[in-house]
Amino acid sequence: MSLVLPTYADVVSAAATLKGIAHRTPVVTSATADRATRARLYFKCENLQRMGAFKFRGAFNAISNLTPDERRNGVLTFSSGNHAQAIALAGKLLGVKTTIIMPLDAPAAKKAATQGYGATIVNYDRYTEDRDAIGRRMQQETGMTLIPPYDHLHVIAGQGTAAMELFEDVGELDYLLVCLGGGGLLAGSALAAGALSPSCKVFGVEPEAGNDGQQSLRKGEVVTIAPPRSIADGALTPYLGQLTFGVIRQRVTDILTVTDPQLVATMKFFAERLKLVVEPTGCLGAAAALQGTLAFPEGARVGVILSGGNVDLAAYAGFLTQP
Ligand SMILES: *Cc1c(COP(=O)(O)O)cnc(C)c1O
Repeated sequence: MSLVLPTYADVVSAAATLKGIAHRTPVVTSATADRATRARLYFKCENLQRMGAFKFRGAFNAISNLTPDERRNGVLTFSSGNHAQAIALAGKLLGVKTTIIMPLDAPAAKKAATQGYGATIVNYDRYTEDRDAIGRRMQQETGMTLIPPYDHLHVIAGQGTAAMELFEDVGELDYLLVCLGGGGLLAGSALAAGALSPSCKVFGVEPEAGNDGQQSLRKGEVVTIAPPRSIADGALTPYLGQLTFGVIRQRVTDILTVTDPQLVATMKFFAERLKLVVEPTGCLGAAAALQGTLAFPEGARVGVILSGGNVDLAAYAGFLTQP
């Protein structure tokens, strides 16, 4: 089997497609975070991206690359939330009909937002049903084009534009910490780092309960785990993609894990000190830096992608008031 892996050229082309459409999100710093880590941390705020997460980048880039015929037949995808909203919004902007296969237990706020963008939702049970199989069947029955959440060349390339902007804005970095689910954001970020900051060490960070990425990198092949349970609902993927793993194994230094209590502490930090709403999954990379999972040499320049800010308000209030 020969896979065509995305390259940095695909990220550059995605950046041209997204110019003037995706927000160029701000990079923020915190004296408190720098003191605590003795490093210089740069937080790339994709929680402030359109629809509230970096996933808009990959979704818009993927739909933009479809042929006119494919656009007419519509787009299908499966997602626990943010990719769904991203596809729904990108479809709306590009005039393409969208259908989303979603887990029954996806957060209510994400479902409502997805429907608000005009997408059609089909529910499935993520503990008993295989979403890939459902997606393939619906695709065959309807002629829609399936755009998966991460294992897709144009999705990975689009996601890589966030790190590309970060390097353009702050220059070269010693470390880059990236939230990891299926690996689209990590693979794209690693491509950008390879071209714009070649000596930067790139780390993926995933929930401890769902460390399939860490297992995969160490074993040298994609490892599948049972569906994990964590508050990081955007990183509950049981396996990496073939394309994302292909890039990750070549370019990523290591994959780290953090616990749910560490994510809660990190969410509180962003709310209290930086006045930023960051969803649990969006805190993965930051938690590894702020909670001591990874120690840095003094003065190290560290990029951290805050990947999203879509969190159900009632759940968020609960997280913030945990002792
Ligand atoms: C999807 C998502 C991730 C994980 O991205 P992958 O490309 O699947 O690794 C991380 N954070 C947020 C907020 C997400 O929506």
